[in-house]
Amino acid sequence: MSTRLEDPESTDLLQQLIRNACVNDGTLASGNELRSVDLLQQYLGTTGFDVERYEPQPGRASLLARIEGTDPDAPTLMLMGHTDVVPVNPAGWSRDPSAADIVDGMVWGRGAVDMLNLTATQAVAFRRLAEEGFRPKGTLLYLAVADEEALGTWGAHWLVDHELDAVRADYVLTESGGFQMPTEHGPRLPVMVAEKGTFWSKIHVHGTPGHGSQPFNTDNALVRAAEVVRRLDAYRPEAQIGEVWRRYVDGMDFPAELHDAFLDPSAVRDFCASLPLGMGRLVHACTHTTFTPTVAHGGTKTNVIPDHVELEVDIRTLPGQSGDDIRGMLREALGDLYDQVEIESNEDLSTASAIDTPLWDALSRVAGRLVQDSALVPFLMVGGTDNRYFRRAGATGYGFGLFSKRLGFEDYATMFHGNDERVDLESLALSEQLWRAVAHEVLA
Ligand SMILES: [Zn+2]
Repeated sequence: MSTRLEDPESTDLLQQLIRNACVNDGTLASGNELRSVDLLQQYLGTTGFDVERYEPQPGRASLLARIEGTDPDAPTLMLMGHTDVVPVNPAGWSRDPSAADIVDGMVWGRGAVDMLNLTATQAVAFRRLAEEGFRPKGTLLYLAVADEEALGTWGAHWLVDHELDAVRADYVLTESGGFQMPTEHGPRLPVMVAEKGTFWSKIHVHGTPGHGSQPFNTDNALVRAAEVVRRLDAYRPEAQIGEVWRRYVDGMDFPAELHDAFLDPSAVRDFCASLPLGMGRLVHACTHTTFTPTVAHGGTKTNVIPDHVELEVDIRTLPGQSGDDIRGMLREALGDLYDQVEIESNEDLSTASAIDTPLWDALSRVAGRLVQDSALVPFLMVGGTDNRYFRRAGATGYGFGLFSKRLGFEDYATMFHGNDERVDLESLALSEQLWRAVAHEVLA
């Protein structure tokens, strides 16, 4: 396979998606992804496949296109991209974030790497397959979803809950991964095979009200809440070296010293302190359950001793952990205060797919042809994607795409939800070729 360095059709579709600026601020009235569903439907045309639209709330539309397989026993592959983007502060940008300018071989704009680049290239690959008369054994789906940036409420989550027969798939490919991590033996390409879960908690701390002028021997909820925050911050749960992390470290050809420190549960935390800050934070998050106090509400007036403080804690769970595991950790962290507070939690636990699958093998073969000397490594997403809904519905869900050498992990990490988001044209051409080749490998 010869790789092309540019794909004008993918570039053009990406520019149009960026200009639609389907900004999702978390409110129902935002997003308006219908505009990009119209665009994609017009782009895809009608030849050789079925198209369905879903609009559970006005404007919050998703599009599903399907090339039906000839063998009902063959697997179904879904290419899934979201059409919404996160809000932007134009003051931090060097260019207009919704103009989609091309400068020095890069498309600039909100969504260029999260993830309109993939949403666009998946659509182009799907249309080209249809135009070629692709008649696979297995079914190919292309799903452009709304609302990924606000938990998928009106997109993937809604579709899996209400339209599972339509969107059911054995294999799902969506963001992110695929940026080139150089090693002595060629680039390693991370595949997001699992993601951490959330266990967002509100901690209610109660006390007894009194006059602020006489604090002696009072029961001040704010003082107790401060101790709760301090204990959460000081809590040091032991590292957990899970399968994904271990296989990532094994696949990276790290020097022996680094390799051993990364896999030693009693050493990895201290070792993180010696790494560059961004890398230290990521390694820590991949190997630990994290407890981050983020919000405090309490008190009413300077001269009133508060009787109630509400804390919010962003807790992130590792693959395999249950709600009871996390409650046990909270008990350990808070000690005697655990029974003095009330904790309300919202469980959205970690999801993981197997690493050794036919989809992995197909991605590995195709990526090996498109990126010289490359090999895949599994990786754990520390944030969440729509993959979790499909994994829970039984799919093998991976986060992947391809990026050229021009766009390394550091660039990717800073641009994701950040300023000056942009993607190079070669990365778009690579991803488009990836999707088509994987569809052939998995479904033919
Ligand atoms: Zn995204």
